Amino acid sequence: MPDGLPTATVILKPRRARPFFGRHPWVLDSAVDRVDGAPADGDVVDLVTHDGSFVARGLWNSQSRLRLRLYGFDSSTPLDDGVWRRRIEAAVGLRQALGLDSRDGAARLVNSEGDDLSGLIVDRYGEYLAVQVTALAMQPRLELIADVLQDVAAPRGILLRGAERGLSKLEGLHLPDRLLRGTEPDGPIFVTEHGLRFGVDLAEGQKTGFYLDQRDNRQAAARFAAGRRVLDMFCYSGGFAVACAVTGRARSVLAVDTSAKATALARANADFNGAANVAVETADGFEKLDALATAGESFGMVVLDPPKFARSRGAVDDALRAYHRINRVACDLLEPGGILVTCSCSGSVTREDFLQMLAGVAQRSGRMLQLLEIRGAAADHPVSVSCLEGEYLKCVIARVV
Ligand code: SAH
Repeated sequence: MPDGLPTATVILKPRRARPFFGRHPWVLDSAVDRVDGAPADGDVVDLVTHDGSFVARGLWNSQSRLRLRLYGFDSSTPLDDGVWRRRIEAAVGLRQALGLDSRDGAARLVNSEGDDLSGLIVDRYGEYLAVQVTALAMQPRLELIADVLQDVAAPRGILLRGAERGLSKLEGLHLPDRLLRGTEPDGPIFVTEHGLRFGVDLAEGQKTGFYLDQRDNRQAAARFAAGRRVLDMFCYSGGFAVACAVTGRARSVLAVDTSAKATALARANADFNGAANVAVETADGFEKLDALATAGESFGMVVLDPPKFARSRGAVDDALRAYHRINRVACDLLEPGGILVTCSCSGSVTREDFLQMLAGVAQRSGRMLQLLEIRGAAADHPVSVSCLEGEYLKCVIARVV
């Protein structure tokens, strides 16, 4: 492994090489004709066309349908320790260039395919790093990764956080949460985002603790909030609610989430930022939206940031129906000229699908929707143009006439 040279050759079926010449990094088992050699999981292997021409170099995983992840497209470069080190350094360098390296802020330092490190996610929360591994092949390289992160980011501690259970199963990963380097924080960490302070629960929080991808969208939403009554539905730790109340000078905010842990964090974050006009409620989002509409309530802004509705391409139609339903009710709740901030983090729902769904909502509700901003994840979540599967987040800001 240390020399980074291939231990086996993976031969593609005829006419299956095109995506990989196009630098797409995921080789599914269905594209593989046979393997020359007996690679262990995590080994470096070469990918060749059916007639033996070199295509790319990657890491093998016999346990996943995603049999091979590609990390190099040049036969003269071994996938040795130097490659991982240089890629992590480059990723951290980008965040420095983006001005996201302050010691009390939070940022994603490594974004998987978007940083040419498929299967590795690293988030920095103040002085601590949270590492998530979503590829089995990264597991044997964890010590090296931790060493490099210690060198380039000098954190107080590096924590390993398990990937989503479904994802781990697909990859054959068994990585319990543990401390990789340094010390664990002895309570919540506080980070600054656009001048606001948020408590982050690194040990128990959702994702790695905070939805960093929405950082700039929270600010964008706040720009429209002045003087309005705002509903922050699916609020988690209150990111949109606090931004709208404090930065945006909203008249009042109602923040709702089904998780009591989330609403406790949202309450604490609102108080911590002196936002006395934020009310927080633990309730099911679908039921609460219906109840507010039935009660004839109205809002000047509604933020919808639901969990992932579509886990696969096959679930897209059901997901779109669910998006339609909540956006339809949100429009009913909005006064004329009200602002809808509507998000989707389902990667299999495309931007076009999502906008089509909104067109359906306009049709059904008889209201014109003016698109003001169509946004994605913040710049510390780069997407490789060769792997658009990494572009999952949509955040549409629309005026409902
Ligand atoms: N807007 C948040 C992130 C929201 S993530 C931020 O900026 O940080 C989606 C949230 O939806 C999670 O907090 C999850 O607890 C919540 N959720 C999931 N199902 C729900 C439901 N049926 N009703 C209300 N909230 C739900």
